[in-house]
Amino acid sequence: MTAVPSSGSSALTDTFGRRHTYLRISLTERCNLRCTYCMPADGVDLLPRHHLLSFEEIIRLSRLFAALGVSKIRLTGGEPLVRKDVSALAAALARLPGIETLAMTTNGLLLDRHLDLLCAAGLRIVNISLDTLRADRFLTITRRSGLEQVIRSVDLALNAGLDAVKMNCVVMRGVNDDELVDFARFAADRDIEIRFIEYMPFGGNGWQNKTFVPYPEMIRVLQEAFPGMHPTSDDPHATAKTWRIPGFTGELGFITSMSEHFCGGCNRIRLMADGNLKVCLFGRGEVSLRDAMRDGASDDELTALIDAAINGKKASHAGMEALAIQDNRPMIRIGG
Ligand code: SF4
Repeated sequence: MTAVPSSGSSALTDTFGRRHTYLRISLTERCNLRCTYCMPADGVDLLPRHHLLSFEEIIRLSRLFAALGVSKIRLTGGEPLVRKDVSALAAALARLPGIETLAMTTNGLLLDRHLDLLCAAGLRIVNISLDTLRADRFLTITRRSGLEQVIRSVDLALNAGLDAVKMNCVVMRGVNDDELVDFARFAADRDIEIRFIEYMPFGGNGWQNKTFVPYPEMIRVLQEAFPGMHPTSDDPHATAKTWRIPGFTGELGFITSMSEHFCGGCNRIRLMADGNLKVCLFGRGEVSLRDAMRDGASDDELTALIDAAINGKKASHAGMEALAIQDNRPMIRIGG
């Protein structure tokens, strides 16, 4: 392997001085749910297997990103747990020099089958996506059943000795916005962070402004129910604004990409299941590291591609109305 720039190299620092130390890897475009805000109603045409990154390719790219300064990797999908070699991948990624934190975002349906192996492999943080606590709505939102299984997985994860367990809930007006208080109560006696995510426009998810519930409105509703609720301090790179309710074990987080973006402290880049590097969730520019690798690119050449992509990153995403009409992948193909 030819010498690559030492850790903390400039290759992962963009023109705004943001160092990108957090890599989100989408392991698959497959999922065992069909959530309305993620998967277009008529689904997505799955790419042929050989279009997706192999185990070895994911490890090679992750080793390179780690050498360039990435210290945190999050595994996403589709649903990462439908990928057969997920535990072996997790173990290999956690062993990479420079990787300090391995995290995963899952819908929780299969977590009970993999949790022990994943924890042994070095997984430290789990985010479980759940947008309702009502079985009837679970069916409407995900087009599948499984609520009890997901809640069982949450409690399993809470007892697995992980550094953090979080629940991701996309808040949609007229769909689940009347469950904010119930979700908050879920954190009363659980050491969990309930994350309320503002509904975002992605390819094929039919996003409309009238379905979007902004952060200030969520806070107003919750403060009425929990008057003592107060914000806690946040680090500049944090994606969530966190709040605490006195007497509660857990806390609340708010992902405010649409009403109060946090692009100034962005340290995230995304590797798609098809090997494209996406430097911004809403950025349209992507570069195929898969094709470059398969064309025989060296690590220096891959680093140059990564460097160029990062240097093309914009200061922040466009406004929500502009994002709503802009072409972007469906969420299932990004992985959040
Ligand atoms: S929208 Fe793009 S720049 Fe802003 S926080 Fe998300 S990934 Fe970073």
